[in-house]
Amino acid sequence: MLRGELRHDEPMSRHVSWRAGGTAKTFFKPADLADLQVFLAGLPPDEAILLVGLGSNLLVRDGGFKGAVVLTTPHLGGIAIDAKDETIVVAGAGAASPHVAKFAARNSLAGAEWLAGVPGTVGGALAMNAGCYGTETWDQVVDCDTVDRQGQRHTRTAADFDIGYRHVQAKPTGRDEFFVSARFRFARGDAEVAQARIKQLLAKRMASQPLDKPNAGSTFRNPPGDHAARLIESCGLKGFSIGGAQVSLKHANFIANLGDATASDIEAMIHHMRDTVREKTGVELVQEVRIVGDAA
Ligand SMILES: Cc1cc2nc3c(=O)[nH]c(=O)nc-3n(C[C@H](O)[C@H](O)[C@H](O)COP(=O)(O)OP(=O)(O)OC[C@H]3O[C@@H](n4cnc5c(N)ncnc54)[C@H](O)[C@@H]3O)c2cc1C
Repeated sequence: MLRGELRHDEPMSRHVSWRAGGTAKTFFKPADLADLQVFLAGLPPDEAILLVGLGSNLLVRDGGFKGAVVLTTPHLGGIAIDAKDETIVVAGAGAASPHVAKFAARNSLAGAEWLAGVPGTVGGALAMNAGCYGTETWDQVVDCDTVDRQGQRHTRTAADFDIGYRHVQAKPTGRDEFFVSARFRFARGDAEVAQARIKQLLAKRMASQPLDKPNAGSTFRNPPGDHAARLIESCGLKGFSIGGAQVSLKHANFIANLGDATASDIEAMIHHMRDTVREKTGVELVQEVRIVGDAA
């Protein structure tokens, strides 16, 4: 018997930061980990499964996702200090990364401050190897817990994945598991210093990112030795729009939803940006945002 919220044809625009896109055929918000395990074990073996955190790097096409979406927030979102080691923070997949940063700072730990600027969850950070200011998620992971399609739990370390810049692939390829929690090691520090650093990083972000309009952060990865935003801007694309999707005037690697963008406007914009940069500079930009589902 499931205890969480089960819905059908749920608009995913409610759950992704772009505030656009189609529906999920099945949508489940587990009450806790045991509930998630029961849900997964009961799905048909060929059902597509998508775990979603805060949807800050995700777009569901307008025709929708014909599988099961599992939302990890808020019930898989606990954060605690490890019982045996006070430099280790244990966080559920649904914990917001900025909350982990603030929790670590309050507990006089240093090194988690960067997570304050990544508006996703721990699960999303593990799946994307999110990073900024020189640190990446997996640099700090001691180990993580996963569940597989049958709902069985496993403990994994970095050695179980092929990890790179915004890239995490289970080894061997095809192992289908989802993150449910992770243990992060930070350094002993000073609460006030860490809190001041968080404030400073957030101020820097407010100044450089278009946080007033729905977006999904960087659309493309930075190519080696360069910045995607610089290349896009150099092609004169800042402010260019397709339907309700606009290349942000503040940060050219961000696509803003001006209010009524469809997923297809956003995807068309991604193609246009990539094609223009390729034609004008010869650089092939690699997409960072994840796009799933069917076209309308
Ligand atoms: C304003 C803004 C600034 C940003 N800045 C940064 C930045 O500095 N650095 C950076 O790296 N990113 C940045 N991002 C992108 C995004 O916040 C990160 O990628 C974040 O880690 C995604 O987390 P999420 O919970 O929102 O993931 P979602 O968008 O919900 O999902 C992203 C992907 O992860 C998968 N996933 C999510 N949870 C799980 C899970 N539990 N198990 C398995 N797979 C899962 C999803 O299926 C999907 O493929 C930014 C985004 C915005 C909007």
